[in-house]
Amino acid sequence: MKVRAQIGMVLNLDKCIGCHTCSVTCKNVWTSRPGVEYAWFNNVETKPGIGYPKEWENQEKWKGGWIRKADGRIEPRQGGKLSLLMKIFANPNLPQIDDYYEPFTFDYDHLQSAPKTKAAPTARPRSLITGKRMEKIEWGPNWEEILGGEFSKRSKDANFEDIQKDIYGQFEQTFMMYLPRLCEHCLNPACVASCPSGSIYKREEDGIVLIDQDKCRGWRMCVSGCPYKKIYYNWQSGKAEKCIFCYPRIEAGQPTVCSETCVGRIRYLGVLLYDADRIEQAASTEHDRDLYQAQLDIFLDPNDPKVIEQARADGVPEAWLTAARNSPVYKMAVDWKVALPLHPEYRTLPMVWYIPPLSPIQAAAHSGHVGTNGEIPDVNQLRIPLKYLANLMTAGDVAPVSRALERMLAMRAYMRGKHVDGQPNMKAI
Ligand code: SF4
Ligand code: SF4
Repeated sequence: MKVRAQIGMVLNLDKCIGCHTCSVTCKNVWTSRPGVEYAWFNNVETKPGIGYPKEWENQEKWKGGWIRKADGRIEPRQGGKLSLLMKIFANPNLPQIDDYYEPFTFDYDHLQSAPKTKAAPTARPRSLITGKRMEKIEWGPNWEEILGGEFSKRSKDANFEDIQKDIYGQFEQTFMMYLPRLCEHCLNPACVASCPSGSIYKREEDGIVLIDQDKCRGWRMCVSGCPYKKIYYNWQSGKAEKCIFCYPRIEAGQPTVCSETCVGRIRYLGVLLYDADRIEQAASTEHDRDLYQAQLDIFLDPNDPKVIEQARADGVPEAWLTAARNSPVYKMAVDWKVALPLHPEYRTLPMVWYIPPLSPIQAAAHSGHVGTNGEIPDVNQLRIPLKYLANLMTAGDVAPVSRALERMLAMRAYMRGKHVDGQPNMKAI
């Protein structure tokens, strides 16, 4: 057993309101520079949706993550038959700018300089790439929400009642959720494995994955190799860049910018101890569906004296052992099993985990399926299909998602059933 410490994050998706404050504050601190205008180290996606960049989950297209060979070994999916030189000079698996979106600002001058018209002028979008005014924005992150506008276009040729029926008929069948995403600071990072220059490394002390800017030669193999598409090419410096888990703040005992500024207070940071000798075995687990459990199995109990003794022998600092014992990430991911990884089938052993959303809970509550007096509600009555969440978080295995949701529902029912000073507990409603 070789004990290592890793910092991780849990996000409670029930509490994300999709305000993008995390993305904007992250951008202001880390990517408000020429060359990375299009890059969002943290972005918040509308799900179901094609995401940012488009179709990032389609590994057949981008060749990201690891693949398990017939003999049980794993290798980066982009290993393939192409020679290294071919891959470097003609990497066919790189997202283009249109797969991200054309970054723009608003032409505020237009407000002052527009000729006199009947209607007030509006600020027009101007491309940050070409500098030209854009007549039309073709696509952007969270475009799925904009598609709702289709309904209003029909209002000219249908009567109001028909439209209303149509909208509500479909509305009852639809669901939507937000998925904030950042680099997963994986235990088995595909970006590190795919870099020909050896410039990407995982820090020994806390597991944060970084790119040595002096060593990076801009081959961009990491961009295609990362299955979460969380490495970005800076077209001005010619180097790759990524989320650094705000390591200067972490070293000073502060939370990441996205955690500190999160409006919904959905983000929890914490330390986990794991057995580094079992990484390869876990990542090469035979069936995709078993990868969640395989990753759980390599985490170690921070209260086990044997683990602590070995951790000290392996040089894990005392402060990190204390942090591991008090870790909310350990509690939610390992102890209570209410937090789950994102796409464990990519085999990178990701370290940003998610509590699946119960919401929209209101519809279920109105139909009497969610108790307000302490009774345990039925997980199958929730609006977001279990299978959809399972495909996101447990490679299609519904049981762990159902267990997590049942526990969250039980906790909610318990809190709602509680009375404070003889009154219902309004804070939990
Ligand atoms: Fe590397 Fe982060 Fe991608 Fe994992 S999510 S492969 S650590 S860039
Ligand atoms: Fe969600 Fe928090 Fe980001 Fe707002 S700041 S979008 S609540 S994660």
